[in-house]
Amino acid sequence: MLLAHDSGLSGDDRTLAEAVVAGQRRALAKAITLIESTRADHQVRAQALLRALLPSTGKAMRIGISGVPGVGKSTFIEALGLLLLEQGKRVAVLAVDPSSSRSGGSILGDKTRMERLAQNAAAFIRPSPASGALGGVTEKTREALLVCEAAGFDVVIVETVGVGQSETVVAGMTDVFVLLQLPNAGDDLQAIKKGIVELADIIVFNKSDIDPLATETAMAQMRAALTMLRPTSASWQPPVLKASATHNAGIAEFWQCIEAHRAALEAAGELAIKRQRQALDWMWQMIDAGLRSRFRTHPTVRAALPQLMAAVEGGTVTPAAAALQLLGCLSDEYTPAPLPPPHGGF
Ligand code: GDP
Repeated sequence: MLLAHDSGLSGDDRTLAEAVVAGQRRALAKAITLIESTRADHQVRAQALLRALLPSTGKAMRIGISGVPGVGKSTFIEALGLLLLEQGKRVAVLAVDPSSSRSGGSILGDKTRMERLAQNAAAFIRPSPASGALGGVTEKTREALLVCEAAGFDVVIVETVGVGQSETVVAGMTDVFVLLQLPNAGDDLQAIKKGIVELADIIVFNKSDIDPLATETAMAQMRAALTMLRPTSASWQPPVLKASATHNAGIAEFWQCIEAHRAALEAAGELAIKRQRQALDWMWQMIDAGLRSRFRTHPTVRAALPQLMAAVEGGTVTPAAAALQLLGCLSDEYTPAPLPPPHGGF
């Protein structure tokens, strides 16, 4: 059993960790629920659980899939998942849905999606947590991804829906980032404008059955647009593919492309470097979030804030001077600096 021993797990949580590593889906679901909990004591347990599971992580193919609502993400992922199950692989699907945290409603829908896939014991599907800020949701998704890996899933798919920001975070936690597109020019332009195309390692025009000619045109336009963008990696030029998820067409070719991408990155030694960089980015994002929260809850900051905000609004203190003074509140040996002399505004 690949568990870290100094992880400080309670007896029950050790049993849970062992059941996760043994690949039990119920244990996996329970572990993710613990990770998603916002209770402080649950968070302490969740971090200990993750520490214990860490040696068992890292072996899955991590795939990010994005696209506007209705492009066919769940249909495509289900078709892909069923193909992978046929190949004897175990497949987990996690969803990052920024809409669920803002409105309470979810664009990615509920558990009834991907029913055929969900019924299979070798598959695991987890919708995004229903609350929390975007950063919170994605941080939990990163951790859920690690738990799925520890549970022995060969492929972990992280699905997200496009607002730009969620694509960036999902591209930052996966080995390959896939953009599903509709074969019409409007969709192309939106994705290019939002900077999502730049993140994509593979672009797939789904629903090609509806209008094959329009699909070819859209593919050619996208290829032309890609020549003006920097490739995501030195060893990979993003290909533009087509598919029809409802007709199960283009799915096997897509998987070949995923395998080719992995082979190219591995041959160039880029996969390990990419994951190292992602781990460090994750650490810094956690530090940024932690510092921000510490700053906002710090009593001296809270006491000084209204006056300094008014001074900045009134143009009597520069934003930079106010920021420096407030940041100074965080250091233990802090003594309030005198306010800089007022000046004429800016
Ligand atoms: P999502 O919102 O991106 O997850 O999209 P869905 O997978 O829910 O698909 C939205 C609708 O498009 C559904 O009615 C699907 O049956 C349909 N759809 C998905 N893929 C295709 C396709 O390749 N061709 C056609 N004609 N319809 C599709």
